[in-house]
Amino acid sequence: MAYDPENIFAKILRDEIPCDKIYEDEHALAFRDINPQTPTHILIIPKGAYVSSDDFTANASEAELAGFLRAVGQVARDAGLVEAGYRFLANHGQDAHQEVAHFHIHIFGGKNLGRMIKPVDK
Ligand code: AMP
Repeated sequence: MAYDPENIFAKILRDEIPCDKIYEDEHALAFRDINPQTPTHILIIPKGAYVSSDDFTANASEAELAGFLRAVGQVARDAGLVEAGYRFLANHGQDAHQEVAHFHIHIFGGKNLGRMIKPVDK
């Protein structure tokens, strides 16, 4: 899938639409999810144009990979989630219901999140 520069997170990166920004560095931007699923629900996106986790893990440079993952940890620490715990995940593609085609990691926290995902029909 080709990267669409008109996706909503690309517009946020270009400051064309606002976000509730909580962290930014050379490799990553973090902001609050507009439709939070948990008391703390943060999205972290790389600054580079990557469609999803598949694209990012295949094509990002070592510096982007390392910088981005470091940012995920920093955001969770800054949000005060380390002691109680948190979960992060990334959706790739149709079966995972990825909605926005710019790679992003969700950080969920602020409550007991239960065990992993809900069982679904196989
Ligand atoms: P995903 O299904 O993993 O692609 O998740 C996309 C997420 O982006 C959803 O949780 C949406 O609520 C969130 N989202 C969509 N538009 C915005 C926006 N403008 N600002 C913040 N979060 C957004």
